[in-house]
Amino acid sequence: MFDIDTIRKDFPILGETIYNKPLVYLDNGATTQKPRCVVEKIEQGYYTLNANIHRGVHYLSQKATEAHEEARKTVQTFLNAHSSNEIIFTRGTTEAINLIASSFSDEFMEAGDEVIVSAMEHHSNIVPWQIQAARKNIALKVIPITSKGDLCMDTYKALFSERTKLVSLAHVSNVLGTVNPVREIIEEAHKRGIPVLLDGAQAVPHIKVDVQDLDVDFYVFSGHKIYGPTGIGVLYGKEEWLDKLPPYQGGGEMIASVSFEKTVFNELPFKFEAGTPDYIGSTALAEALNYVNRLGITHIANYENELLEYATTRLMEIEGMRIFGESDHKSCVISFLVGNIHHYDMGMILDRLGIAVRTGHHCAEPLMHALGIEGTVRASFALYNTKNEINTLIEGIDRVRKMF
Ligand code: PLP
Repeated sequence: MFDIDTIRKDFPILGETIYNKPLVYLDNGATTQKPRCVVEKIEQGYYTLNANIHRGVHYLSQKATEAHEEARKTVQTFLNAHSSNEIIFTRGTTEAINLIASSFSDEFMEAGDEVIVSAMEHHSNIVPWQIQAARKNIALKVIPITSKGDLCMDTYKALFSERTKLVSLAHVSNVLGTVNPVREIIEEAHKRGIPVLLDGAQAVPHIKVDVQDLDVDFYVFSGHKIYGPTGIGVLYGKEEWLDKLPPYQGGGEMIASVSFEKTVFNELPFKFEAGTPDYIGSTALAEALNYVNRLGITHIANYENELLEYATTRLMEIEGMRIFGESDHKSCVISFLVGNIHHYDMGMILDRLGIAVRTGHHCAEPLMHALGIEGTVRASFALYNTKNEINTLIEGIDRVRKMF
């Protein structure tokens, strides 16, 4: 079923060489590579299906509209959402969180109200709330983390007050790899009548997400991190919530009627999709989700867990190795430092060996402060990586270590 050699052939870029070395791409947390079928879908879309959607009576416009709405249904099925009205296409995770931060705080928050986030959030789940905090004088409450990189759940429960209006958390940390106990997080919030937004950017490529089963109120992710194109992402919201939220942006598509006296907004999901949507991107994202479905998310998860275990064991054999994020519930992200070697030096020399890893704060500066470091090297794996590539990484790190 899970034949890695066949899978790798689906991703032409994996055959590239960098500085005459075979590419070892371990920066999947930042963005994943695209299988041929996704790239072909984009090409085919522009060559055979391109016309602006929703407003056209002509054949091509209707075909493009059907493809876009079909893509919405594919996302609905992928997340097991109750209705396709609950699927809003955005530019990505960041835009989806900004949408909720803006619309939710406009409708439901006033001065003194609070949003709970955590110390392990990506900037995209911090800054949108800070912008609203400055506008509306609302406050962020932050769940701290344990030394292993888990959320302090007791503190989480203690952070709720009568001013708490929303919990907004990463499903999986992009630095620590921690898979947060989202079921418990949601149950605790719902006991108090508080909705929950989950940032699924690092979760959907690796674990099965069922929004109805989780009973999550909002769920967001980016297409480019799950083998889809850049510039397209998803906001899932329960219909009962989305119905109550005001639009985020105004323009075409999101209206039912407009006059200078009064504008009536369109129904869901169009109310939140102002302007021409990325209908080529949505169909290519659907193709990526179908690709993941064909391989099977459980098979992917099992394979990636094997890679994670192997890589962790091998890395720990290296002298001076420090891994950040040792939760018992981890996804395939490993952040590390070796001795006193600066993460940039490590990243730059590994690059010369053909190995792509990420270095720095990973858009999680508050987490770096909590860990008392400036940055890390991060290796993040995807379904097409291999143990051989991990061996190359280990040899590379060892080489760098000996140089310093
Ligand atoms: N949230 C998490 C956990 C991430 O890892 C990222 C990207 O690295 C984002 C949000 C932002 O995603 P995007 O830049 O695709 O909007």
